[in-house]
Amino acid sequence: MSVEEILTLDAVALDRHQQRMVKFAHDAYPIFRSLTGAGVRETLALLKQDLPDLKVREVPTGTQVLDWEVPREWTVREAWIKGPDGAIVVDIKDHNLHLLGYSVPIHETLSLGDLEEHLYSLEDQPELIPYRTSYYVDRWGFCIAHQQRMALVPGDYEVFIDSTLDAGSLTYGELVLKGRSDREVLVSTHCCHPSLANDNLSGLAVVSSLASVLGSLKESERRYSYRFLFLPGTLGAITWLALHPEAAETVAHGLVAANLGDTGEFHYKMSRGGSLSESWPIDRAVEAAACQLGVDLVVEPFVPFGYDERQYCSPGYNLPIGSLSRTPWGRYPEYHTSADNLDLLSGAALKGSLQLFLAVCNELEQEKLYRSKHNQGEPQLGRRGLYRTLGGDDQGRERELALLWVLSLADGKRSLAQIAQRSGVSSELVGWAIEALLDPGLLEEV
Ligand code: ZN
Repeated sequence: MSVEEILTLDAVALDRHQQRMVKFAHDAYPIFRSLTGAGVRETLALLKQDLPDLKVREVPTGTQVLDWEVPREWTVREAWIKGPDGAIVVDIKDHNLHLLGYSVPIHETLSLGDLEEHLYSLEDQPELIPYRTSYYVDRWGFCIAHQQRMALVPGDYEVFIDSTLDAGSLTYGELVLKGRSDREVLVSTHCCHPSLANDNLSGLAVVSSLASVLGSLKESERRYSYRFLFLPGTLGAITWLALHPEAAETVAHGLVAANLGDTGEFHYKMSRGGSLSESWPIDRAVEAAACQLGVDLVVEPFVPFGYDERQYCSPGYNLPIGSLSRTPWGRYPEYHTSADNLDLLSGAALKGSLQLFLAVCNELEQEKLYRSKHNQGEPQLGRRGLYRTLGGDDQGRERELALLWVLSLADGKRSLAQIAQRSGVSSELVGWAIEALLDPGLLEEV
């Protein structure tokens, strides 16, 4: 089977991956995840069942990472609130989202008025529990449905949070698949949200299946090396960048994956570099893959906000990395609430997302890049039968322009599609010019 066939997957294999992704989401949903701690390790252990070569990395608390520091590790054993009648009214056992992420320990009895300062709820979505964290400021708090909050009666409330914030480590998962080239395709997804399905588990599910399919190729069959990162949002990416100063040289293309299990249409946020100049190969590959699969794709320019592309695309790195999702963060009503649960995940949507990621990899694997071999003055095209000898021929003029554009833009980093986009010359004509220039050795494939 060709690489293209393996990366396309037949219907049976796609269904098998769909079942695997849905099962993973169900198994991982109840795990109490956070920026650090046992939940991340448990989640990575679950991924390792399908990806035996996944490496679990531990970076100690206090390690300086760029402008940040790896924080203390958070462990929670119990967290609840008892009402004036002594009955438990809120308990982390009922929902992982009830506890403000990184809450410091407390055991106190306080009035409803004082407790209110530590409660978080959504007035306009009164039935849902919000997701809130306080990673970088010491706080404690509980997240509850607004309707429950409104029903709390005045009186004394006993609050108990049995948590510790101790020296430990930040944990992330990394899987590297070597290819013919040391240049890498980096695929990154976050693993730090507790009991949220689309914003977290869908990315982990799709990226792990993607890694499994690419892992089924032999090293010699992969043009690129691939690196899959499963890390806590923001600080995980910052930590990885701090440990990999060579990333600017080794990362050839990349994608940040998130929100891939809802039924919304695909959204692609371009790489920073591609947004500032002409689109980069990863940007072209995503568009070409969507086109080839016949799926709608909304393309948006880079903004320095969102998921971990914020870190990978910061100006000192400016990695060629875009962000691919279905409905983007913050644009669906269930986002960062208890309604982002397993009911929101569609098996078919996860499967469609995996297909698109595979198609992008296929584009990158197949894409040819060209380099001009004569760039000190124009090569003499007439001598090679490539230049009109008679004026006034429109078709001839168009062809000459295509030849000159290819010679001007073929720098070893551009594909046919990019040359066409940048020059405004049709793909057909650029394709013709490339063939015409390859023949006499004026151009080479990189
Ligand atoms: Zn999130």
